[in-house]
Amino acid sequence: MQQITAQHFAERIRRGAAQARAAGFDALLIAPGPDLAYFADYLPVATTERITLLVVPVDGEPAMVVPALEHDGAAATRAADAFRLVDWSDGEDEYVPTSALMEPSGRFAVSDALWAMHLLGLQQKLPGARFEAISHALPMLRAVKDADEIDRLAAAGAAADATFDDILGARFAGRAEREVAADLDRLLREHGHSQVDFTIVASGPNGANPHHEVGDRVIAEGDMVVLDFGGLMDGYGSDTTRTVHVGEPTDEEHEVFEIVKRAQQAAFDAVAVGVPCQDIDRAARAVISDAGYGEYFIHRVGHGIGTTTHEPPYLVEGEERPIEAGMCFSLEPGIYLPGRFGVRIEDIVVAADDGAHRLNNTSRELHLVQ
Ligand code: ZN
Ligand code: ZN
Ligand code: ZN
Repeated sequence: MQQITAQHFAERIRRGAAQARAAGFDALLIAPGPDLAYFADYLPVATTERITLLVVPVDGEPAMVVPALEHDGAAATRAADAFRLVDWSDGEDEYVPTSALMEPSGRFAVSDALWAMHLLGLQQKLPGARFEAISHALPMLRAVKDADEIDRLAAAGAAADATFDDILGARFAGRAEREVAADLDRLLREHGHSQVDFTIVASGPNGANPHHEVGDRVIAEGDMVVLDFGGLMDGYGSDTTRTVHVGEPTDEEHEVFEIVKRAQQAAFDAVAVGVPCQDIDRAARAVISDAGYGEYFIHRVGHGIGTTTHEPPYLVEGEERPIEAGMCFSLEPGIYLPGRFGVRIEDIVVAADDGAHRLNNTSRELHLVQ
């Protein structure tokens, strides 16, 4: 893995400023959360009522407002040379130094995670300013990953793969979904995850509900079991799904599984730089519809992943923005038969000039478990 430096973050800030300029904004207002982790390598431990805000003007020098007592932490990140720090102390009106960095009648793209309290405080200081949510105004701000980010996503993917390989040795029949989910949580952490965001174990009829997380249902011989799990490792996300079967599957279960597998491959084959995001969804959907199961594929085919486990680009009908080299996203078609069972297969892939590369590489065959 290459050494990441302040230059990486300066480059991200430059790219962000260019996108903001192109969209007619005066500055980005980057708050603690995934945006600040991305631009400033900074996740303040205490995200509190005290404002921390990175102001990235489209012209001019970026600066981060920080509480004085958190100055040292902010100055110690790998991004610290990419912007200057502006301290404020308890007892001061924090919106004075913050608004001083902003154009009084400017137009600002604001991190989704900025506390409403702080946004209201800034609005009061700058009544002529206009604010818009970054996710709506600049959805692709963090969508194209650099080499360091792709390395981290690949490492997180490999850890999720190792987790899947380990869980195959676990007992399924006779245990509650909740117990298998606890195994997944423990294994993800053992393989290096600092945070587990979801451990879906959806057995039998529960598998037909893509939103089912986990419950007390006891897994039985003959069940299809959808396993969808992921979290953050070294600041970057993992998210993979495999569907396993307890004992021998029926012909119908096998057939449905094979259709989903072909749909997932069709999505993979459709990934190319310049292709509209919706075309990836269409490619998978065509396979499932042609096989007669179109009405049972009830969600988009994929979502981006980075400093969060769900973010743009969304691979969904109506999303016409093109795939760019460096975008990382899931491909996760499924078929959900109400009251019976479900199948989903999900890999994270990265788009490159020569097509897609998978960051999840466990077998996509139907695994039979005990
Ligand atoms: Zn079965
Ligand atoms: Zn998933
Ligand atoms: Zn996913």
